[in-house]
Amino acid sequence: NKMSSQEIREKFLEFFESKGHTRVPSSPLVPHGDPTLLFTNAGMVQFKDVFLGAKKLPYTRAVTAQKCVRAGGKHNDLESVGKTARHHTFFEMLGNFSFGDYFKREAIAYAWEFLTEVLGLPKDKLWVTIYLDDEEAFQLWQEVTGIPAHRIVRLGEKDNFWSMGDTGPCGPCSEIFIDRGEEERCDAPECGIGKCDCDRWRELWNLVFMQFNRDEKGNLTPLPKPSIDTGMGLERMATVMQGVYSNYDTDLLRPIISSVEEKTGQRYFGDERGFPFRVIADHIRACTFLISDGVLPSNEGRGYVLRRILRRAVRFCKVLGLERPFLYELVPTVVSLMGDAYPEIVNMQEYVQKAIKAEEEKFLETLNEGIKLVYGIINDLKNKGATIINGEDVFRLYDTYGFPLDLTEDIANEHGLKVDRDGFNRAMDRQREKAKAARLETLRDGLSEIAKEQLDEIPPTVFTGYNNLVDTGRV
Ligand code: ATP
Ligand code: MG
Ligand code: MG
Ligand code: MG
Repeated sequence: NKMSSQEIREKFLEFFESKGHTRVPSSPLVPHGDPTLLFTNAGMVQFKDVFLGAKKLPYTRAVTAQKCVRAGGKHNDLESVGKTARHHTFFEMLGNFSFGDYFKREAIAYAWEFLTEVLGLPKDKLWVTIYLDDEEAFQLWQEVTGIPAHRIVRLGEKDNFWSMGDTGPCGPCSEIFIDRGEEERCDAPECGIGKCDCDRWRELWNLVFMQFNRDEKGNLTPLPKPSIDTGMGLERMATVMQGVYSNYDTDLLRPIISSVEEKTGQRYFGDERGFPFRVIADHIRACTFLISDGVLPSNEGRGYVLRRILRRAVRFCKVLGLERPFLYELVPTVVSLMGDAYPEIVNMQEYVQKAIKAEEEKFLETLNEGIKLVYGIINDLKNKGATIINGEDVFRLYDTYGFPLDLTEDIANEHGLKVDRDGFNRAMDRQREKAKAARLETLRDGLSEIAKEQLDEIPPTVFTGYNNLVDTGRV
């Protein structure tokens, strides 16, 4: 009697509707009118202005199933994909929100009721975390849920204090974890919540208690009407409800892996051998949803993050022995799995396939040559007993063969090597400067002598790149 992810999603939305919440559709992955944020990375993103008090809605309680991407920005889970059992670039976040309506007590009570009564999770396997000195939460958890004090863990600012930015609404949070048991413990001397980062302790749900306003000086003043923002990972909950080890074994991802198995004739294993399958399954979801929401592969900003994801997936197709465009054939599988919940991908299927295939074809033109070069470099390094691929080489792979930094890094890591990121970035900056100088030269040629002199007096502007894009949403 395993619960499907479709059922979990629907039960969540229905449960909170029954508690007076308005069901609001997911917002797109490209945040509307927010150039500071790369992608929607949490359910609260579409309600940011409401929390800030700049926008009013006709309701004070909302519930959503939100598409999220955590790649490329401050929240970047790209490197965990396929390694941990619980991280994706694209995932769904289920969340309930109170805009100055209910607060801690109800948020805790609702979460507990949903987990233990609607989903029937065993109470004795659940643990919670609180922010260091949030005594109110400490008391409420015990009072409302009966959870014993020894399963309430106090964590610091990094894990359990949330803020939207340097100033503005912020507050402590509480997270709910499930203990997967001794069998999944790690080798850390002390395997535990906040002590290690292993898959035994699966964080399921984050409850953010927005209760202060932070001013420029860093002073916290209580908000007149505190709010609630929560986020629960659907894939993680499906893992629990379907009694499997990894998110990749759930009904959301395993069918994509099965498609890859069918099309390649190779078998999937849940251990390291299955890594390429997991990366491909994860990345094809991200690509399908990003392209459906209007992002296309390019050399900058959001498009470049998409390109990095897509090219990384292409490289793993090659690891599986595929030398032809292949990823685009997986799009119908993604659409059949997710199209009911997100109809936009149904309408966009053909377009998405075309875009993916075009990028695959383009990258496959240079992939083999690039791989030859990398292996040459790797062999040289190994012969010399060196361990770092220098930045110039990494840059050449980028510039001539279209290898994004993290793709070269993947290959390097597979051989126990590292890449010189700083050297790569320096080479990149140099190239940008050159390109700019060349553009200026062309411009100068068309100018009068006087204009040229004036131009020389203008101080150069410094290109600071996309490092200045910051994420502000957490949950
Ligand atoms: P973790 O510590 O496991 O990386 P997080 O603390 O970064 O998770 P939150 O920002 O609290 O995650 O997001 C709320 C919920 O969203 C998490 O409790 C988890 O269930 C889910 N979630 C977060 N990141 C991912 C991801 N990369 N893939 C799948 N689910 C995720
Ligand atoms: Mg995280
Ligand atoms: Mg966490
Ligand atoms: Mg968290």
